[in-house]
Amino acid sequence: MILRYKSGDITAKIREGSRVIIRDVDFHIIEGESYALIGETGSGKTMIALSVLRLLPENITQTGGSIDFCGVELSCLKSLRALLGKDIAYIPQSGADYLNPTRKVKYQLRDSLKRLGFKGEELKAACIDNLFRAGFENAREISDLYPFQLSGGMAQRVTIALALCSHAKLIICDEATNGLDYKAKTEFVRYIGELFPTAAKLVITHDIQVAGECDRICVLCSGRLIESGKAAEISSAPKHPYTQALLSSLVRNGMRQTPVLRESEGDCPFYSRCAYACEKCLGEIPLVENESGMRRCVL
Ligand code: SF4
Repeated sequence: MILRYKSGDITAKIREGSRVIIRDVDFHIIEGESYALIGETGSGKTMIALSVLRLLPENITQTGGSIDFCGVELSCLKSLRALLGKDIAYIPQSGADYLNPTRKVKYQLRDSLKRLGFKGEELKAACIDNLFRAGFENAREISDLYPFQLSGGMAQRVTIALALCSHAKLIICDEATNGLDYKAKTEFVRYIGELFPTAAKLVITHDIQVAGECDRICVLCSGRLIESGKAAEISSAPKHPYTQALLSSLVRNGMRQTPVLRESEGDCPFYSRCAYACEKCLGEIPLVENESGMRRCVL
């Protein structure tokens, strides 16, 4: 087991007091497995990524949760910092924003490689090799550029090269396919799988086609886990009404009502938009386990 995550309650301070924005989202990822967290804007997937990285904003607190990485509890930012860039790699949403604009690509890669103990000629060669493995045939030329001289797709590949400057057991891909075309998006998960065959991959996405390329999917709606299971099954024949809506694009990122915070405790978070909603949906809906995964729905 690489990662065992339990969210507990993640609570946001708001003007009126506080509100639980994520509750009881638990999952694990084993070696070599890719696990997608999917949901629209406000579903909580990025907050979960931030909580795994112990980087929740100041007005957000987490109680009762735990993060077990390879059998060790990550209790604080300090314990995580020792692993970041070595055992845990992060591939961000926008490579162009993530990279330091004032430093050439090669120096940013070399900084990461130095942390692994590379020196001298070996350091320079590993930098070029990682750019090459990340898909740059002209790796030497790219290494001499500043990030602002790269296109969005090239900058994203540089962040992949940075992730390669690690012995990562866990890769966190945070909406890393945003801005890529359809072909590049669906190939991304396979590509990451080839580059990091033994690492656990946590793929944060709002795109069910990207999630469908993973091994397993966890669907979030307003901070609650509402369906999880094998990606092939969920992406081809989703059972939960919310997942069906995601798949048929009835709920699109930012295009429909998107409850950033749950309106009421207990009720199904999809209640106001569900075609099957009934009185039974107004109470606390338990997460029920079945042979193919878990589901939170009265149907
Ligand atoms: S619990 Fe009710 S409202 Fe929620 S998805 Fe299921 S049928 Fe729809």
